[in-house]
Amino acid sequence: MSLSEDIKDFALDLGYSKVGITTADGFPDYVAELNSRHEMYAWYIESAFHPIEGAEPRSIMPSAKSIIALVYDASKESFPDKLVGKIGRLYQARLYLAPRHRINGARRQLMREFLESNGCEVAPRLVVPERLAAARAGVVNYGKNTFAFADGAGSFILITAFVVDAELEYDAPTLEVKCPPKCTACIDACPTGALYEPLKMDPRCCIAFNTFMTQDGYPGGITSYIPPEIREKMGTWIHGCDICQEVCPRNQRRLKAKLPQNEFLVKVAQDFELTKLLNLSDEFYTKRVQPLMYNYIRGKKYFQRNAAIALGNMGDPAFIPDLAQAMDDAEGLVRGYAAWALGRIGGSQARQILEASLARETDEFAKKEIQAALAAA
Ligand code: SF4
Ligand code: SF4
Repeated sequence: MSLSEDIKDFALDLGYSKVGITTADGFPDYVAELNSRHEMYAWYIESAFHPIEGAEPRSIMPSAKSIIALVYDASKESFPDKLVGKIGRLYQARLYLAPRHRINGARRQLMREFLESNGCEVAPRLVVPERLAAARAGVVNYGKNTFAFADGAGSFILITAFVVDAELEYDAPTLEVKCPPKCTACIDACPTGALYEPLKMDPRCCIAFNTFMTQDGYPGGITSYIPPEIREKMGTWIHGCDICQEVCPRNQRRLKAKLPQNEFLVKVAQDFELTKLLNLSDEFYTKRVQPLMYNYIRGKKYFQRNAAIALGNMGDPAFIPDLAQAMDDAEGLVRGYAAWALGRIGGSQARQILEASLARETDEFAKKEIQAALAAA
C-alpha cells in the first residue's frame, strides 16, 4: 500500500468518516474574502489562529506539500433532548479544541503520531481554512448556510486538517454547493439575519458567535457585551446555535433517524440545566462544566450570562427566584444580564427585585442594565 492509502486506512480505523488529500497550495480567494469583510472578521484575522498565514501554508512551513483533511461525523448518535436547543451539537460532542486527554483530542494526537512515525513532518500550529481544504480534498461540499456537508453525514461534522511535507496522492476536489437551487430555508430561519445571502454570514449577528466569542479581552474589539436586539433572538441557546442546520433538508435524514443515544451525554445533561448554570458555584464550574465545555467559552461568568439571557427569553416567572439570587452574584456582568432577564419577564415581583438591586448596585454596567430593565419590566 502507498503512504496515502496507509494514512486513509489509519484515519478510518480511528473513527474518522472520510479522508481526503490535497496539495498544500495556498487559498488566495479565502484571503481576499476575509480581507474584503475585515470589519466582520477582525476578531478572527487578529486572533491567535492567524488565518491569513494559515491560508498560505508554505509561508509558515516552506517544506509543506500536502494537506490531509479528515471528517469526523458527530451525528452517528442522538443528542439528549435536555441539551438540544441549548448547546449546539458540535459543542455537546466537544470536538473543538479538545485537549489530548479527552477522546477527541486523543484521536487527533494519534493521527499526528502516525504521520510522524511514517516519516512526515507535520506543521505544529497551522490553521488552514479547513472547510475549503476539505472541499479541495474531495470530502465535503458546501451549503448556502456556509457549513460544509459530507455526503451521507450532513453538516454536523468536524474537519481536522494536517499539513505535511510528504508528496501524496491527491483527490479530486468537490468545491461545489450541493443545495437544491431554490432552497433558502437556512436564510429564512436565521433569527438574526446573520445569514444575509447564500454563503455569506456576518458573525457579529450570529447567535453562536454571541454565545461564545463575546468575551472580554478577545481580539478585534470584541467584548462581553451582547446587544439587547441579539439577546432577544438568542432563545435558549447558551453555546452555539444549530437553527440553520436543523432546518436544512440535507440534514433531515440524520436528524430524523433513530440513532443510539450517547450515554455519557445523557448522564451529564442534568448538569447543564439553565438555573444551575445561572447560579454556578466555582467548584461545580471547575469540576463539572469546565472539563467538558472546553470549546470556546473561557470563564464561568459567560455561562452565567448566557443562562440569564436564555431564562429571560423563556419568560417564565417561575425563574424569578433564580434570577433574584443571581442579582447577588459577585460579577457585575452576571448581575447586569440577570437584570435584563428580570426586565424581560416583567411583572411586580421582578420590578421589586430590580428596585432593591438598583439601590445597592455599584457596578456601572449592572446599574445601566437594571435601569433599562426597570423601564421594560
Ligand atoms: S448559527 Fe444561528 S444565528 Fe448563526 S447563522 Fe445559523 S441560524 Fe443564524
Ligand atoms: S437549508 Fe437549503 S439552502 Fe440552506 S444549506 Fe440546507 S439545502 Fe442549502
